[in-house]
Amino acid sequence: MMTSAFPRHFASDNNAGICPEVFAAMTEANQHHLPGYGDDPWTRRAEALFRDVFETDCEVFFVFNGTASNCLALWSLCESFHGVICHRHSHIETDECGAPGFFLHGVTLLPADTADGKLDEPSVRRAHTLRHDFHAPQPRALSLTQATELGTVYTPQEVGALSALARELKLFVHMDGARFANAVAGLSAAPADVTWRAGVDVLSLGGTKNGAMIGEAVVFFDRARADNFRRRCKQSGQLASKMRFLSSQWVGLLEGGAWLRHATHANGVATYLEQQLRALPGVTVAFPRQANAVFALLPAVAAAAVAARGWRFYNDVGPGGAARLMCSWDSTSGDVDAFVGDLRAALPRV
Ligand SMILES: *Cc1c(COP(=O)(O)O)cnc(C)c1O
Repeated sequence: MMTSAFPRHFASDNNAGICPEVFAAMTEANQHHLPGYGDDPWTRRAEALFRDVFETDCEVFFVFNGTASNCLALWSLCESFHGVICHRHSHIETDECGAPGFFLHGVTLLPADTADGKLDEPSVRRAHTLRHDFHAPQPRALSLTQATELGTVYTPQEVGALSALARELKLFVHMDGARFANAVAGLSAAPADVTWRAGVDVLSLGGTKNGAMIGEAVVFFDRARADNFRRRCKQSGQLASKMRFLSSQWVGLLEGGAWLRHATHANGVATYLEQQLRALPGVTVAFPRQANAVFALLPAVAAAAVAARGWRFYNDVGPGGAARLMCSWDSTSGDVDAFVGDLRAALPRV
């Protein structure tokens, strides 16, 4: 097995472990015998917490991962001849191995492009108006990622404006919130203000990257769209029989506000990392840093040198080859200092 001198990395927030609040809730849930498939008090408690946090009577389901959460959400909005407008660098387009078309045979992704990962009105209109006739897929949903794959965040006003455009174009609004907690923490906005109050119909909410062991939630603000979700969930192998171990994790995250504490912490470490990187000659930050990711353009020799020292990070997320440095709930300023120290030592002398 490969070992490394560094206890933590900036490769992804899924490289981090399980946060103590989630572990504690799962340990508590690990007592007694309880019914399977979600017919248990932990699942009821988690559902109630979602309704508190989002200040509305939403319908919630718990699934194993983000790919399934996105695809099951889209399946609830679309038929096989429909199209989903999404960003060219969105996870559904680039990182799910065609899963939307696998879950919902025939559905087509209609990619739109902008420089910073956030869709805007012109990009959505361009993707929407490519074709109108019945030979082409019919646009049916707009999928926004919050925070985006490039580390940027939509403001409530931006989500609201895109949702209004979606209504005009007769599109439902899906939000891929794998890093929704980081977006909310960065905005200091109420979760409702960036979702249903801004026109979002269904949210895929990430637990894994926020400190859970496994699992994401699908949150329907438009309850009518949740019809048949359970059947699709079961059919696609995403219905957990020991559901309480998915749902109790959300009790751990949501009940005492751990989800936002951890996200605020990760964003704070990313802020510090960004400051340190900006002070290095020859290093530039590629996109506005608005959540827990910093994208840094590094001189090739320096990138190779820190990688050889054992630091892991991706440089193929998004355009331009920037190193994506992702901070987690357990990242520390000491990790930043260690990384930046190694990077500084590896920079070509000017
Ligand atoms: C990580 C991630 C997901 C979920 O991916 P899984 O590996 O399927 O859990 C979804 N969307 C985005 C933007 C992500 O970063």
